[in-house]
Amino acid sequence: MAMAATPFHFTSPITTTKPINKPSPLCFHSIKHPTFLLQTSPLCLKPPPGPTPRSAAAATTAIQLDGPTASNKSSKSLPFRVGHGFDLHRLEPGYPLIIGGIDIPHDRGCEAHSDGDVLLHCVVDAILGALGLPDIGQIFPDSDPKWKGAPSSVFIKEAVRLMHEAGYEIGNLDATLILQRPKLSPLKETIRTNLSKLLGADPSVVNLKAKTHEKVDSLGENRSIAAHTVVLLMQK
Ligand SMILES: [Zn+2]
Repeated sequence: MAMAATPFHFTSPITTTKPINKPSPLCFHSIKHPTFLLQTSPLCLKPPPGPTPRSAAAATTAIQLDGPTASNKSSKSLPFRVGHGFDLHRLEPGYPLIIGGIDIPHDRGCEAHSDGDVLLHCVVDAILGALGLPDIGQIFPDSDPKWKGAPSSVFIKEAVRLMHEAGYEIGNLDATLILQRPKLSPLKETIRTNLSKLLGADPSVVNLKAKTHEKVDSLGENRSIAAHTVVLLMQK
Protein backbone atom coordinates (compact mmCIF):
# COMPACT_ATOMS: atom_id res chain seq x y z
CA MET A 1 0.00 0.00 0.00
CA ALA A 2 1.37 3.38 -0.95
CA MET A 3 2.46 5.69 1.82
CA ALA A 4 0.69 8.98 2.18
CA ALA A 5 2.83 11.76 0.80
CA THR A 6 2.13 14.05 3.66
CA PRO A 7 2.24 13.60 7.41
CA PHE A 8 -0.87 12.07 8.82
CA HIS A 9 -2.22 11.45 12.22
CA PHE A 10 -3.44 8.43 14.00
CA THR A 11 -4.46 8.09 17.55
CA SER A 12 -1.83 6.18 19.42
CA PRO A 13 -3.14 3.31 21.49
CA ILE A 14 -0.28 4.00 23.85
CA THR A 15 -1.30 5.93 26.89
CA THR A 16 1.25 7.66 28.99
CA THR A 17 1.16 9.76 32.08
CA LYS A 18 4.01 12.01 31.04
CA PRO A 19 5.16 13.65 27.83
CA ILE A 20 7.04 11.21 25.59
CA ASN A 21 9.20 13.91 24.04
CA LYS A 22 11.58 13.96 26.95
CA PRO A 23 15.26 13.66 26.03
CA SER A 24 16.46 10.09 25.86
CA PRO A 25 20.03 8.96 25.26
CA LEU A 26 18.73 5.86 23.55
CA CYS A 27 16.27 7.12 21.04
CA PHE A 28 17.88 9.66 18.77
CA HIS A 29 14.52 10.74 17.48
CA SER A 30 13.37 11.46 20.98
CA ILE A 31 13.64 15.15 20.41
CA LYS A 32 11.05 14.72 17.71
CA HIS A 33 8.79 12.44 19.70
CA PRO A 34 5.98 11.94 19.32
CA THR A 35 6.95 12.04 15.65
CA PHE A 36 8.67 8.97 14.22
CA LEU A 37 10.23 9.24 10.80
CA LEU A 38 9.43 6.24 8.68
CA GLN A 39 12.34 4.83 6.73
CA THR A 40 11.97 2.23 4.06
CA SER A 41 14.72 -0.12 5.20
CA PRO A 42 15.14 -1.88 8.52
CA LEU A 43 18.00 -1.30 10.87
CA CYS A 44 19.44 -4.73 10.37
CA LEU A 45 19.99 -4.49 6.63
CA LYS A 46 23.03 -2.86 5.14
CA PRO A 47 22.40 -0.58 2.20
CA PRO A 48 22.29 -2.66 -0.97
CA PRO A 49 24.74 -1.64 -3.68
CA GLY A 50 23.66 0.78 -6.37
CA PRO A 51 20.38 2.54 -6.81
CA THR A 52 17.56 0.58 -5.25
CA PRO A 53 14.13 1.30 -3.90
CA ARG A 54 16.02 2.35 -0.78
CA SER A 55 16.49 5.70 -2.48
CA ALA A 56 12.80 6.16 -1.95
CA ALA A 57 13.74 6.71 1.68
CA ALA A 58 14.20 10.29 0.69
CA ALA A 59 10.46 10.44 0.60
CA THR A 60 10.20 9.82 4.32
CA THR A 61 6.78 10.07 5.76
CA ALA A 62 6.18 11.43 9.19
CA ILE A 63 3.62 9.78 11.39
CA GLN A 64 2.37 11.95 14.16
CA LEU A 65 1.62 10.04 17.31
CA ASP A 66 -0.93 11.98 19.27
CA GLY A 67 -0.09 12.66 22.86
CA PRO A 68 -2.06 11.09 25.67
CA THR A 69 -5.61 12.20 26.09
CA ALA A 70 -8.34 11.11 28.42
CA SER A 71 -10.39 9.88 25.48
CA ASN A 72 -7.81 7.57 23.96
CA LYS A 73 -6.85 6.33 27.38
CA SER A 74 -10.35 5.14 28.03
CA SER A 75 -11.01 3.75 24.56
CA LYS A 76 -7.64 2.24 23.60
CA SER A 77 -6.30 0.92 26.85
CA LEU A 78 -6.37 -2.89 26.83
CA PRO A 79 -5.56 -5.35 29.61
CA PHE A 80 -3.39 -7.39 27.22
CA ARG A 81 -1.53 -6.64 24.03
CA VAL A 82 0.14 -9.19 21.72
CA GLY A 83 3.10 -8.47 19.45
CA HIS A 84 5.04 -10.47 16.89
CA GLY A 85 8.59 -9.90 15.71
CA PHE A 86 10.61 -11.42 12.89
CA ASP A 87 14.19 -10.79 11.83
CA LEU A 88 16.74 -12.32 9.48
CA HIS A 89 20.42 -11.58 8.95
CA ARG A 90 22.90 -12.70 6.37
CA LEU A 91 25.86 -14.64 7.81
CA GLU A 92 29.30 -13.72 6.49
CA PRO A 93 32.83 -14.72 7.54
CA GLY A 94 34.70 -12.10 9.50
CA TYR A 95 31.82 -10.92 11.67
CA PRO A 96 30.98 -11.86 15.25
CA LEU A 97 27.85 -13.89 15.88
CA ILE A 98 25.93 -12.29 18.74
CA ILE A 99 22.63 -13.80 19.84
CA GLY A 100 20.70 -12.38 22.77
CA GLY A 101 23.72 -10.32 23.75
CA ILE A 102 25.94 -13.42 23.97
CA ASP A 103 28.99 -13.96 21.76
CA ILE A 104 28.55 -17.29 20.01
CA PRO A 105 31.67 -19.07 18.71
CA HIS A 106 31.18 -19.61 14.98
CA ASP A 107 33.03 -19.32 11.69
CA ARG A 108 30.87 -16.37 10.65
CA GLY A 109 28.50 -13.74 11.96
CA CYS A 110 25.90 -11.18 11.03
CA GLU A 111 26.74 -8.50 8.54
CA ALA A 112 24.73 -5.62 9.89
CA HIS A 113 24.72 -1.94 10.69
CA SER A 114 24.48 -2.61 14.43
CA ASP A 115 25.81 -5.72 16.16
CA GLY A 116 23.36 -7.78 14.11
CA ASP A 117 21.71 -9.46 17.09
CA VAL A 118 18.84 -11.19 15.32
CA LEU A 119 17.14 -12.28 18.55
CA LEU A 120 17.18 -8.90 20.26
CA HIS A 121 16.02 -7.17 17.09
CA CYS A 122 12.97 -9.37 16.74
CA VAL A 123 12.17 -9.11 20.45
CA VAL A 124 12.27 -5.32 20.12
CA ASP A 125 9.93 -5.51 17.14
CA ALA A 126 7.55 -7.77 19.06
CA ILE A 127 7.36 -5.31 21.95
CA LEU A 128 6.99 -2.30 19.65
CA GLY A 129 4.32 -4.18 17.71
CA ALA A 130 2.40 -4.97 20.87
CA LEU A 131 2.51 -1.29 21.79
CA GLY A 132 1.28 -0.31 18.33
CA LEU A 133 4.50 1.60 17.62
CA PRO A 134 6.62 1.80 14.43
CA ASP A 135 9.22 -0.92 13.95
CA ILE A 136 12.86 -1.02 15.01
CA GLY A 137 14.10 0.23 11.64
CA GLN A 138 11.99 3.34 11.99
CA ILE A 139 12.95 4.13 15.56
CA PHE A 140 16.64 3.32 15.08
CA PRO A 141 17.24 3.91 11.35
CA ASP A 142 20.42 2.51 9.87
CA SER A 143 21.00 5.83 8.14
CA ASP A 144 22.14 7.26 11.46
CA PRO A 145 25.86 6.55 12.08
CA LYS A 146 25.08 6.81 15.77
CA TRP A 147 23.84 3.21 15.69
CA LYS A 148 26.72 1.73 13.69
CA GLY A 149 28.08 -1.14 15.75
CA ALA A 150 25.71 -0.30 18.61
CA PRO A 151 24.97 -3.14 21.00
CA SER A 152 21.37 -4.15 20.51
CA SER A 153 20.85 -4.02 24.25
CA VAL A 154 20.25 -0.28 23.84
CA PHE A 155 17.30 -1.03 21.55
CA ILE A 156 15.86 -3.52 24.03
CA LYS A 157 16.20 -1.03 26.87
CA GLU A 158 14.41 1.63 24.86
CA ALA A 159 11.60 -0.78 23.95
CA VAL A 160 11.24 -1.76 27.60
CA ARG A 161 11.21 1.91 28.60
CA LEU A 162 8.42 2.60 26.11
CA MET A 163 6.54 -0.47 27.38
CA HIS A 164 6.65 0.72 30.99
CA GLU A 165 5.82 4.26 29.96
CA ALA A 166 2.68 2.90 28.29
CA GLY A 167 1.75 1.08 31.49
CA TYR A 168 2.59 -2.48 30.47
CA GLU A 169 4.91 -5.24 31.59
CA ILE A 170 5.99 -8.54 30.02
CA GLY A 171 3.38 -11.25 30.46
CA ASN A 172 5.38 -13.87 28.66
CA LEU A 173 7.59 -14.11 25.62
CA ASP A 174 8.31 -17.02 23.29
CA ALA A 175 11.13 -16.82 20.75
CA THR A 176 12.36 -19.26 18.10
CA LEU A 177 15.81 -19.07 16.52
CA ILE A 178 16.35 -20.70 13.12
CA LEU A 179 19.92 -21.56 12.16
CA GLN A 180 21.74 -24.58 10.82
CA ARG A 181 24.95 -24.10 12.74
CA PRO A 182 26.30 -23.88 15.39
CA LYS A 183 24.29 -26.00 17.77
CA LEU A 184 22.84 -23.66 20.36
CA SER A 185 21.79 -26.16 22.99
CA PRO A 186 24.90 -25.62 25.17
CA LEU A 187 24.34 -21.83 25.16
CA LYS A 188 20.57 -21.60 25.02
CA GLU A 189 20.13 -21.19 28.76
CA THR A 190 22.81 -18.48 28.88
CA ILE A 191 21.05 -16.60 26.08
CA ARG A 192 17.65 -16.97 27.73
CA THR A 193 18.98 -15.75 31.08
CA ASN A 194 20.61 -12.70 29.50
CA LEU A 195 17.46 -11.89 27.53
CA SER A 196 15.42 -12.07 30.74
CA LYS A 197 17.83 -9.66 32.42
CA LEU A 198 17.70 -7.21 29.52
CA LEU A 199 13.92 -7.29 29.64
CA GLY A 200 13.83 -7.01 33.42
CA ALA A 201 11.54 -10.04 33.35
CA ASP A 202 11.41 -13.19 35.40
CA PRO A 203 13.24 -15.96 33.51
CA SER A 204 10.19 -18.18 33.86
CA VAL A 205 8.22 -15.98 31.45
CA VAL A 206 10.94 -15.90 28.78
CA ASN A 207 11.15 -18.96 26.55
CA LEU A 208 13.70 -19.67 23.84
CA LYS A 209 13.63 -22.39 21.24
CA ALA A 210 16.08 -23.16 18.44
CA LYS A 211 15.78 -25.27 15.33
CA THR A 212 17.61 -25.97 12.10
CA HIS A 213 16.25 -25.35 8.62
CA GLU A 214 16.82 -28.91 7.44
CA LYS A 215 19.81 -27.81 5.33
CA VAL A 216 17.60 -26.08 2.79
CA ASP A 217 17.66 -22.47 1.65
CA SER A 218 20.05 -19.87 3.04
CA LEU A 219 19.04 -20.64 6.62
CA GLY A 220 19.85 -24.29 6.16
CA GLU A 221 23.10 -23.56 4.36
CA ASN A 222 24.68 -21.48 7.14
CA ARG A 223 24.25 -18.32 5.07
CA SER A 224 21.63 -16.65 7.25
CA ILE A 225 19.99 -16.72 10.66
CA ALA A 226 16.41 -15.81 11.56
CA ALA A 227 14.23 -15.45 14.63
CA HIS A 228 10.56 -15.15 15.49
CA THR A 229 9.15 -13.76 18.72
CA VAL A 230 5.67 -13.53 20.15
CA VAL A 231 5.17 -11.44 23.26
CA LEU A 232 2.20 -10.86 25.51
CA LEU A 233 2.15 -7.58 27.42
CA MET A 234 -0.04 -7.14 30.49
CA GLN A 235 -1.30 -3.88 31.84
CA LYS A 236 0.38 -3.06 35.14
ZN1 LIG B 1 18.15 -7.31 12.69
